[in-house]
Amino acid sequence: MDILQQIFEVVNKRQPLYQERYTHRRVTKLSEETGEVSEAFLSVTSESNGKNKTFEDVREEAVDSAIVALDIALTKFPGEEDWDDEQLYTAVEDMIAKKLKKWKKKLKDKTDIM
Ligand SMILES: [Mg+2]
Repeated sequence: MDILQQIFEVVNKRQPLYQERYTHRRVTKLSEETGEVSEAFLSVTSESNGKNKTFEDVREEAVDSAIVALDIALTKFPGEEDWDDEQLYTAVEDMIAKKLKKWKKKLKDKTDIM
C-alpha cells in the first residue's frame, strides 16, 4: 500500500467529502503542525535548547505536517463527490508530479529558496 493510500485509509477515509467545517479544521491543524516544526527547529538550533528538542523532533513534526497536508489534498472537493479512490489518488499524484517539476525548474540554479 502506498503512502497516499495509507493516509487515505488511516486519516482521510473518516471524512473524505468536502465539508467546510472539517476542511477548515484540517487547514488549521496544518498550521499547528508547521508551527511545531518551527518550534522544534528553533529550540534545537538555539544555544539553550530550552525545550530540549532534537532533530528527530523536527523530522517528526515535518512528517505530521506532510500527513495533514496530504489529508487536505485527498479531500473530495465540490464537483468530485462521485470520484472513486483511484481518481483521487491519481489527481494527487499528478499534482505532486506537476509541482515537483516546477520545484525542479525553480531550484535549478538557486540555493536560497529552500
Ligand atoms: Mg505534531
